[in-house]
Amino acid sequence: MMGFTGLMRRSLKARLIATFLGLLLVVQLAGFTALRASLSTHAHQELPARLDVGDRVLHSLLSQRAQKLTDGARLLAADFGFREVIHSKDNDTIVSALENHGRRIGATRVALYDTALALQASTGEPLNSLAPLAARLAGRVMRPGDSSNVTTSEIGLLAGLPYQFVMVPIKAPVVVGWVLLGFPIDERLVSDMQALAAVQMTLLTRTSASDAWQIQLSSVSADRKGGLAQYRWDQAPARGASGMTSVTAHGEEFGVHPSWLTIDDTNGSVLALTSLSVDAATRIPHDLQVALLVTTVLSCLVFGVGSSLTAHRMITPLHRLASAADRLGAGDYATPIGDEHRHDEIGQLSQAFERMRVSVSAQKEEILKLAYWDTLTGLPNRAQFRDAVCSAIAAAQQIGTPPGSTAQPSVAVLMLDLDRFKHVNDVLGYRFGDLLLVQVAQRLAQQLVRGGDLVARLGGDEFAILLRSGDAELAQTVARRLASAFDAPLTLEEHTVDMGAGIGMACWPQHAGDAHALISRAEVAMYSAKQRSAGALMYDPTIDAASAQTLSLLTEMRQAVTENQLRLFLQPKLSLSTGAVVGAEALVRWQHPHRGLVPPLHFIPFAEQTGFIRVLTMWVFEEAARHWRTLHAEGLLITLSVNLSTRDLLDQDLPQKFDALLLKHQVPAEAFCLEITESAIMDDPQRAQATLDRLSALGFKLSIDDFGTGYSSLAYLKRLPVDELKIDQSFVKSMENDPDDAKIVRSTIDLAHNLGLTVVAEGVENAKTWDMLRELNCDQAQGYHMGKPMPADAFANWSVGWLNQHRPADLVSALMLH
Ligand code: C2E
Ligand code: CA
Ligand code: CA
Repeated sequence: MMGFTGLMRRSLKARLIATFLGLLLVVQLAGFTALRASLSTHAHQELPARLDVGDRVLHSLLSQRAQKLTDGARLLAADFGFREVIHSKDNDTIVSALENHGRRIGATRVALYDTALALQASTGEPLNSLAPLAARLAGRVMRPGDSSNVTTSEIGLLAGLPYQFVMVPIKAPVVVGWVLLGFPIDERLVSDMQALAAVQMTLLTRTSASDAWQIQLSSVSADRKGGLAQYRWDQAPARGASGMTSVTAHGEEFGVHPSWLTIDDTNGSVLALTSLSVDAATRIPHDLQVALLVTTVLSCLVFGVGSSLTAHRMITPLHRLASAADRLGAGDYATPIGDEHRHDEIGQLSQAFERMRVSVSAQKEEILKLAYWDTLTGLPNRAQFRDAVCSAIAAAQQIGTPPGSTAQPSVAVLMLDLDRFKHVNDVLGYRFGDLLLVQVAQRLAQQLVRGGDLVARLGGDEFAILLRSGDAELAQTVARRLASAFDAPLTLEEHTVDMGAGIGMACWPQHAGDAHALISRAEVAMYSAKQRSAGALMYDPTIDAASAQTLSLLTEMRQAVTENQLRLFLQPKLSLSTGAVVGAEALVRWQHPHRGLVPPLHFIPFAEQTGFIRVLTMWVFEEAARHWRTLHAEGLLITLSVNLSTRDLLDQDLPQKFDALLLKHQVPAEAFCLEITESAIMDDPQRAQATLDRLSALGFKLSIDDFGTGYSSLAYLKRLPVDELKIDQSFVKSMENDPDDAKIVRSTIDLAHNLGLTVVAEGVENAKTWDMLRELNCDQAQGYHMGKPMPADAFANWSVGWLNQHRPADLVSALMLH
């Protein structure tokens, strides 16, 4: 992670700097290009004008020179000495005079002509080729008008070299001859052009049109001027569309204006080129280049440093955020994120992170609370209790047995389950149940006096207490204290509730090797205590054995149903007045593969405890329905009684399930009488009543079984939809000997009749009892005297036998015979 953030920081920073510098270079380059383009446009617009100036300067230089030369020549022609020499007719003298006087004014070639313009003498070789030129110049001088100021000058070639020629008359005072003076055109012209017009100048000559141009003078550099000479100037316009002729010489572009100084195909032509380098004009001046370079380097530096600082400012908080996120990821929610005070986006991000940190930390705390605390009572929960037991055992292990002592450190756990809490919850509501649990939690916590001990709620109505370094003796003391704390009834709102609890205890290391075993042993002891109603019970290995037996019994009972080991027995119910068979009670038997026929009292109570009774009741009901159909088909119209237990009454779906079975076997509900004991009803009167109402509404008859053993009043029972009352056999069996019991039976029969109930006496074991009951107007009797419970298949036969033996008509006499 660290590597990642480091990389992110480095690469992001590098990218930022690169981007900034790249952008800067693009801007610089664009500026540079624009500058070049502008310079070039500018140069192309400006060069023709500058060349025009150059042209004008050239022509003005040439005409100034012509004027100066003409003035010099006139002075020469007017000179007395010179005229004298010319008159001498001595050729050598004349030539020498021409040379001397010419030299004085800078002319290198001088010629003398007579009035008819015939050459008289000349310096150097004869200048015959100049005759046409001399004639042209003389013609111009001799034009009518004042000729004193006329400048007559022409440029021409002599022996391939350019000269400026001037012609003046020799007057005495009439014209006696002509002097022609030739001045060589030299470097000065080029340097003057450079100095005055800042243009370059090249002078080209050629003797005939077919010859190549010869460079006479040039300020253009040696390697480029050849290129100018090679251009085909004969075809070039004077200016061109762009105002100049563009010539590329040796890779450099020039803007050129050609000026023809002489066009003469016989004696030769002279061409002057004024030129400027386009490249030089568009080239960025060196100082500007340097300035640009310096600013570019400087701004790169400034941008580099600036963007690096900016990137640093941006990335450092990002890095801090990344490591803050790492911290959060590693579970550290305590350290604030930082940077929240900033007002920029980083600040916003930090604030969002901070909010996340705070809310995650709150959630974490909440989760921890949920994971380790019971929200209702505020006590530690099962998880925390288990951890505490673990650490207590670990601490005890570390201490070990102190030297010189046999007393081993030990840890004790007490487990506590409230009695009848479910009942309280059902009757008084869950809100009340919750309040009760909170009060119980407070009472328990008050009983702890030692610092390190712990009370926890394990769930439901189950609590646990950890006694660190506590032995069996201490556990017993605490258990006694707890039991007495429960002695005082709890008063909540207007209700007073008697609370009791089953308490189980176990100690480490006597009973268990680790925390898990210790807790579960205490639990086993607690269940056993509840079963035996023993108050507090210390764990004993024999309890486990019993619970193991219980488990295996449950498994066996399940097998009993699936493997068809259950049998339905029927015990007849007879009318006391007529002796007719009016019904039978369905009683279950277990044909165990090893134990033989198991009586119901050996497994019914267990089935009720474990809830398996529901399965059993369904089985009995369905069997009874099947047999009723068979008996009905054989002409026996009787009512079958089926026993219901507390658990059955709590089953909301029971009426529905019975109804479905009736439909399946095509039996009317009136064919059944459902027997319920008083105690089953009193366990949860509200619920029981609701179920009984629904069963009665379906058409079932209802009977109160074992009447007289409970404490419910007949008046109360009458509020239930009951049809029949079964006097418990304990009264019936003893009524022949015990006048009190006989009285009870009699008053019960009377009361029941007053309430409109049918009365059944069970446990009729002899004829005397039968007779007594008959006299007391009891309606029906059930007992060994008439018939023991028999396999249901045998019932039809038994009935036939009974009827044959005791036809209802002579039943009385038959009984009297006994
Ligand atoms: P209970 O409902 O009071 O059933 C009557 C019991 O009294 C039966 O015992 C029956 O055999 C016995 N008995 C009948 N006449 C006499 C007599 O003259 N003298 C004596 N000493 N006993 C007599 P059983 O069949 O052993 O049933 C015992 C108890 O088991 C029943 O008492 C009932 O509470 C329960 N039980 C039996 N079958 C079922 C059943 O299918 N469902 C439920 N929920 N409980 C059943
Ligand atoms: Ca019964
Ligand atoms: Ca009974």
